[in-house]
Amino acid sequence: MRQSQLFAPTLKEAPKDAEVRSHQVMTRAGMIKQVAAGVYAYLPLGLKVLQSIERIVREEMDALGANELLLPALTPADLWQESGRWDKYGPELMRLKDRKDRDFLLGPTHEEVITYVVRDYAKSYKKLPIALYQIQTKFRDELRPRFALMRGREFSMKDLYTFHTSEDDLDIWYQSVWQAYLRIFKRVGLDVKVVNSETGQMGGKSAHEFMVMSEVGEDTITFCDTCDYAANVEYSKLSVGDRCPSCDQGKILVAKGIEVGNIFKLGTKYSESMNAKFTNDQGKEQPIIMGCYGLGVSRTLMAIVEQHTYDNGLIWPKEVRPYTYHILIADNTNAEQVRQAESLYQSLKTKASVLLDDRSERLGSKFQDADLIGSPIVIVFGKDVAEGYVEIHHRVMNQKERVVLKDIESHLIAS
Ligand SMILES: [Zn+2]
Repeated sequence: MRQSQLFAPTLKEAPKDAEVRSHQVMTRAGMIKQVAAGVYAYLPLGLKVLQSIERIVREEMDALGANELLLPALTPADLWQESGRWDKYGPELMRLKDRKDRDFLLGPTHEEVITYVVRDYAKSYKKLPIALYQIQTKFRDELRPRFALMRGREFSMKDLYTFHTSEDDLDIWYQSVWQAYLRIFKRVGLDVKVVNSETGQMGGKSAHEFMVMSEVGEDTITFCDTCDYAANVEYSKLSVGDRCPSCDQGKILVAKGIEVGNIFKLGTKYSESMNAKFTNDQGKEQPIIMGCYGLGVSRTLMAIVEQHTYDNGLIWPKEVRPYTYHILIADNTNAEQVRQAESLYQSLKTKASVLLDDRSERLGSKFQDADLIGSPIVIVFGKDVAEGYVEIHHRVMNQKERVVLKDIESHLIAS
């Protein structure tokens, strides 16, 4: 990609309402733009990363044997009246009426719709288990939308629903999805802790949350410095310095966490209220046993930025970075710099993702933008080109090296 053609409106200063660094960096990097409170446009760079997260999520969901589908965001109120949530959900539910005065909602979650889709089909134990997921826009009318994509009113989620004949089968899936979530978060470059949680609005029997430790998180987590133990502070009553109840060796620490995923054993809450039943192998009718598994795609994007932001910008984790190489032309009135940079760009772009800064900006502002765009390797074609050298900045190690121009490509591929 040529930067002269890239729509990435970078800013010198973050907007005043950007309280957290991920919000500041995403706005300054021209990745998102606020359209209304809690409602954002994803600009090309933000969308590119979002799509990489989606690709990883799809790969891991498909590997489990789950099928992707797409449910409507616009949901008739009847389905939520069947489950009882139309009255219970509260003011966060985005409600609306059509021209015939019928009630609708914009889905914050899709248990009702998926149960409606599956119940007519899964009448026999032979049809189960079923695992269906979607990546979709969700809505919550937050009283106080905060921190950009962290708590928005419109956001992107992956939601998976599983349908089973037995609790044992649900347990197997629950464990598999848990492991898939750990792989997803590792691949997108996030450290997560898994905590036990209350089931809340979703109902059901057992639930866990996947938390990214961060000072801007809205939950408080107690965790062990030695083993995997972690719990929401409301349920553990432990405090800093206590001995870990799980391994009996480590010390308890407390930190804020951002919830990026959650998994629930719903049991028969929705299948009973919405009459989703199957006939078992003894010919007896039973409610289907369900699980649901959410993953905040747009919130994951924000959490990645939060965890990978440094003093002057960010460095993307490998699997989600928009560009591996960022080539800067120091002076694009210098024909030799331009010619050499173009030559590397043409060759590299067949093998890797490359951004070429071919704009007529000062080198200083090109560097500032490169810090925000977040490629790990920046290659500078400057004065040294005349002597046959270029400079490579390895941003992860914060190192610069001067390399012989004719060896640049083999050098890059090796490093
Ligand atoms: Zn421990």
